Amino acid sequence: MAIRNATHSGSELHIQVKCQLCPTTDWTLVGKDEWERYTKGATVQDVWSDWSPARREIIIGHRSGMYLCDDCFPKEDEDGNTI
Ligand SMILES: [Zn+2]
Repeated sequence: MAIRNATHSGSELHIQVKCQLCPTTDWTLVGKDEWERYTKGATVQDVWSDWSPARREIIIGHRSGMYLCDDCFPKEDEDGNTI
């Protein structure tokens, strides 16, 4: 009996994005059902409400084609100034 690799079971998608400013590549696995909800109009916040913002950025970046990794993403201090 063959053992199927969980990452190739067909129930998950490997979403990968590359940072536009450095060689960093980030990726995450999403359920096909979740991805379908998202592509049919649900927001990232709705579908992956328990994810960190950084992980959601991978989804958003994949769709928009614009992605900055956590290191390159402009950060703001408490007054809203870009550091
Ligand atoms: Zn980067």
